Amino acid sequence: MNRVILATVVMGLLGFFFAIVLSYFSKKFEIKKDDGLADVVAALPGVNCGACGCASCEDFAGKFLKGEVPVDGCKAGGKKVAEKLTELKAKFSGDVRLVEVLSALPGVNCGACGSPSCEAFAKAFLKGEQPVDGCKVGREKTAAKLVELKKKFEI
Ligand code: SF4
Ligand code: SF4
Repeated sequence: MNRVILATVVMGLLGFFFAIVLSYFSKKFEIKKDDGLADVVAALPGVNCGACGCASCEDFAGKFLKGEVPVDGCKAGGKKVAEKLTELKAKFSGDVRLVEVLSALPGVNCGACGSPSCEAFAKAFLKGEQPVDGCKVGREKTAAKLVELKKKFEI
């Protein structure tokens, strides 16, 4: 009888020990899923109106990260959201220079510079294909920032 009790206690203790070990290693080697979804969702209005053709803002965010919807795809958010999504797109693509140039621009995507959007302008600027005074909306303030960035990035 004593042997049965002893075996039960030992098995219980072993089970407890392995549960702790497994829990420790599962936490230690956990794959962190930081795919930017939270950032994109936070940039959206969150009204889940469906005007973009997506079932919800989260659905839109998932598609945005896969490149299936454009930066100006959120119809409820307008230019402000398009601006944020343009920055996030650059951030996720890992191009720090693009993010810096974009943040120096007004972000209104008016096309007056000859580029179809601020992102297109920024890309052209980084290739030396747009001048420091190329943005027709930002004028002197933007030009001054672009002069600094041109120097910094040795464009
Ligand atoms: S249009 Fe904008 S607010 Fe409406 S569901 Fe799409 S992402 Fe969300
Ligand atoms: S003129 Fe300026 S604000 Fe308009 S698209 Fe070009 S860079 Fe953007």
